[in-house]
Amino acid sequence: MAATCYLCVYGNTGSYSISNGGGPAGDPLGGCGICSIFACDRHALRNSLQRRYECGICIPASISPRSGPPGGSGGGGGSSPTRPGGPTSGGGQTYTAETFKAEYTTASDLLVEKVREALTDVNATLYNYFGQQLASRVLPQLAGEGMTPQAMLARLATAVTIIDFTELPNTLFPAYLQTEREMAE
Ligand SMILES: [Zn+2]
Ligand SMILES: [Zn+2]
Repeated sequence: MAATCYLCVYGNTGSYSISNGGGPAGDPLGGCGICSIFACDRHALRNSLQRRYECGICIPASISPRSGPPGGSGGGGGSSPTRPGGPTSGGGQTYTAETFKAEYTTASDLLVEKVREALTDVNATLYNYFGQQLASRVLPQLAGEGMTPQAMLARLATAVTIIDFTELPNTLFPAYLQTEREMAE
């Protein structure tokens, strides 16, 4: 039986590819290094800092790390990626579209452009997505260790921009990254 991209099956084939490669939808290039599902070239990017392939569901959470123990998603490689002593691109100072592109070198130009637009007004991006629950529900869950608040918010804005871009169902993403709309049950 042929392997199939999980995101193509449970989401949709998407209007756009998140990667520059834009290979055929459905046909996986590899398994996600975080959650192990198979993902096609349209639905995954290579993280050049972590040296792993990451699917479109994991990338937003990978960019805006949640506080508490890193969700090892059960079993897995055992080596949870603790923050290395001196991060090269730095969680420190600022987070820009260039930072994103440097980490996810295969990101499509269009996606990088969307991130750039989103980061021109981080507060508006986050408010449009999370609404009133941004401060009460979302921000307390973020892991700010070693990051400036600005960098943390920019990472979160990048994460939600990618979620919108993938056009995947919001429920595929971790609860803290879901919109107010979805959580309002
Ligand atoms: Zn796919
Ligand atoms: Zn994944």
